[in-house]
Parts: sequence; C-alpha cells; structure tokens
Amino acid sequence: MPISENMVQEIVQEVMAKMQIADAPAGKHGVFKDMNDAIEAAKKAQLVVKTMSMDQREKIITCIRKKIKENAEVLARMGVEETGMGNVGDKILKHHLVADKTPGTEDITTTAWSGDRGLTLIEMGPFGVIGAITPCTNPSETVLCNTMGMLAGGNTVVFNPHPAAVKTSIYAINLLNEASLESGGPDNIAVTVEKPTLETSNIMMKHKDIHLIAATGGPGVVTAVLSSGKRGIGAGAGNPPALVDDTADIRKAAQDIVNGCTFDNNLPCIAEKEVVAVSSVVDELMHYMLTENDCYLASKEEQDKLVETVLAGGKLNRKCVGRDAKTLLSMIGVQAPANTRCIIFEGPKEHPLITTELMMPILGIVRAKDFDDAVEQAVWLEHGNRHSAHIHSKNIDNITKYAKAIDTAILVKNGPSYSALGFGGEGFCTFTIASRTGEGLTSASTFTKRRRCVMTDSLCIR
Ligand code: NAD
Repeated sequence: MPISENMVQEIVQEVMAKMQIADAPAGKHGVFKDMNDAIEAAKKAQLVVKTMSMDQREKIITCIRKKIKENAEVLARMGVEETGMGNVGDKILKHHLVADKTPGTEDITTTAWSGDRGLTLIEMGPFGVIGAITPCTNPSETVLCNTMGMLAGGNTVVFNPHPAAVKTSIYAINLLNEASLESGGPDNIAVTVEKPTLETSNIMMKHKDIHLIAATGGPGVVTAVLSSGKRGIGAGAGNPPALVDDTADIRKAAQDIVNGCTFDNNLPCIAEKEVVAVSSVVDELMHYMLTENDCYLASKEEQDKLVETVLAGGKLNRKCVGRDAKTLLSMIGVQAPANTRCIIFEGPKEHPLITTELMMPILGIVRAKDFDDAVEQAVWLEHGNRHSAHIHSKNIDNITKYAKAIDTAILVKNGPSYSALGFGGEGFCTFTIASRTGEGLTSASTFTKRRRCVMTDSLCIR
C-alpha cells in the first residue's frame, strides 16, 4: 500500500505525542528559563525531525520563508530599537534576502560510486542538536538563516543569542517554531533561554548532547568555541579592504564602495571597512564619493574628535557601532546635511579609524604608490582574518594576484560587498561566514556530517 502524506503526518504526530515534548510557556515557543531544559527540548524535537522526510522538512522551511516575509518589517524595527544599530530599510532587505536565498534541503546532496563491487554512497546526515551563538549586528537574520540550514540538514538548534538582542532573537525563534507547528512539525526546532549569558553559553558548550557549535561573532567567541573540545564552525571578525587600481571604472567604484559601506550602517562583517587605492586614482575616487554619493570629508581635527568618540579610551565605543554618518558627526558637534551617508578621509593604514573594524560608515582611504604596494597594505589591513576583501579593477592579472595574496573567504570584484550575499550578485545567502575554520559561506550541507553507506556486490545495475 503506498504511503500517503496524511499517513506520514499521523506517524509524526504519534511519535510527538509519545515523546511528551516539554512545552515552553504559551506564546513563547522555544524559550526556556534553564539552558539544560532548552537543550532537552531541542533533543526531543530532533528525534521527531529525524523521522521526517526531506519533503516535510522542506514544507517547514517554505513556511519559515513566508513568515520571515510577513514579519520582515517588525523584525527590522525591533532589531534597530533593541540594539540601537543599523537602519530599518536595509534590515527589511536583509530579511527578504534570508527568506528568498537561504538554501533548504536541495543543498543536501549525495555522492555515489557504483561499480563491480557494489554501490557506495556518501549521505549527509544530521549532527543532532547544534549549539549556535549569534551576534547583535544581524540578530534575527542569523537566527533565521542558521535554523533554516540546520533544519534542512535534519538538526534542531539551541541558541545563545547576544544579550543585547535577546528580544529580537526570541521573536525570530517564536516564528520558527510556529512555522514548524503549522506545517505539521514539532515545537522546539529552535530554542533558547530567557536570559542568555556567558554562563548559559558555557553550559551549552559543555553539554554532552551538543556535538557541533556554530559561533558567529568577534574573535572572543570564536576562540572560546574552538577551545571547547567540541567541533566548532567559527564565523569570526573581518576588516574588509576595498582595493581600487588604475584600470577600474572609478565613478562606479566610488558608488559601489559607498553603497556597500553604508548598507545597514556598515554592520555586515563583509562590508567595506576601508579603501586602498593606487595614488593616481585617489583624488578622482574621493571626488565621486563627495559629489555623487553624499559623503562628508572629515578634516584632521574632525578625525581626531572621531577617534576620541568612537574609540574612547582605545576601545570601540558600542554606542557608535551601527550608527548612521549624520549621527556620528553630530556626536562630535558637526551638523551635516540630512542626506550624509558616509564619512571619508585620507590617512595612513595605521590610522586607528582605518585599522580597527569599526562597523559604522567611516571610510578611510589609504594611498598606495602602485598596485603591489596596494596589495601589501590591504593584506596588512585584513589582519589575517581571511574573511572578506573587495577589488575594483579590470585587470585580470591584478585581480588574481590580490585574490591569492589576501586569501579570504569572500572576494567581490567590481561590485558592492553585499553582492557576496546574493544581493545583486549570484549565489545563496548566509549570515554566518566561517572565515576562521574554512567552511566559508555556510549552508545546510555545512551543518551535516558525512556518512558512508556501502552495499557490497549488489545494486550496481550498469
Ligand atoms: P560579539 O563577539 O560581541 O558577540 C557575538 C556573540 O558571542 C554574542 O552572542 C556574545 O554574547 C557571544 N560571546 C562573546 N564573547 C564570548 C565568549 N567569550 N564566550 C561565549 N560567548 C561569547 O560580536 P557582535 O558585536 O555581536 O558582532 C560583531 C562581530 O561579529 C564583528 O567582529 C563581526 O565581524 C563579527 N561577525 C562575523 C560574522 C561572520 O559571519 N563571520 C557575521 C556577523 C558578525
């Protein structure tokens, strides 16, 4: 008798009832007081997910996509209000990008060898419950995108989100579980705790039922995860330079760089954080930035004031991160025109506003004497993060030389940085770029383990 979809649903419901999954408080799907309870619930949910067909997982993912679109504005507003960072318009675009371009189960593929001695497959199986630590810069985007990939791979996930973005992260986790329940799946496909702290993070990292941890954030969290003794996916910090050589379309380069740098007030880790340009094009590049792209040229005195404000006491001032250019200027007493998008200045690579990953629309421009010098300075500024770098050039040899030297997970040529996320560029979207551990842009397959499945001397029908 062929198995109908209804029968599969009934089996899933039956398994769920038997599991007696601990419900989170009403209206707070997936949110627990205690980290151990959260992990236990995600573990039970994973036992259900594991029995589901790929089709059923995909059904949930389709519903997640729909819910993200319906809630894109709410999530964007909530993210800006709670963290004080970024801007609503760009955050709406980021949520649509997650909904449209995060891969689902199609990313889970099989490799096969067939021959005289039978058939061997490499199947991509779930890890189980994955631990995920998420940043405040793209809070709901990361929670949603991680869960879609992890679920497609047959996993459930326990989040320890950034404490400064807990409300937004919980809202996203609620949506994910609602989507699962509405599609016939279990509650608690994604879980968290009411008050995430370093302590809850440690409990999660040490828990016997967590075999894989995905850390998205600065160097501290990635190092902590990689020291946990568990397998870790480390999506760390960047400081992406945009190199411009004398073969580039300078007018377009100015526009692309400012567009990428100002997207969500420079919060994305992939966004242009500084420019290195060969000497012969610096003036023209700055001219177009100022005359056609609403940039503000900071004087030496204003640069000093910005250093004092933005890097108060030598430390990145969190109150400035993700703020728009006009607000940053008003913090140093400058009333800039309402349409000001980006603060620019020329300076040496050692300038603190250039060498530090600021995550705000302040763009220092470093002058290089020739292309080789530009590559050397850009590599220095990337600080060995191996994260992202960009280039504006029509010379293929130059592009190749730069790509080899800088060795980053992402290298955008002749476009704004966000095209690396599939926004105005080809390819899928992710908000977890595993720069430190080398998986690069993560997707469902990143969150699976490879299992060899061997049948000897049969099933080869060639
Ligand atoms: P952050 O490092 O302050 O926090 C990230 C997460 O790690 C938070 O949940 C935080 O609570 C947690 N955390 C921090 N230190 C920890 C520790 N020692 N142990 C356990 N957990 C710890 O970063 P942020 O300000 O939220 O985000 C900005 C940073 O993240 C930037 O450096 C940016 O480049 C990076 N980032 C990287 C990616 C990527 O895909 N590679 C994506 C987004 C952001």
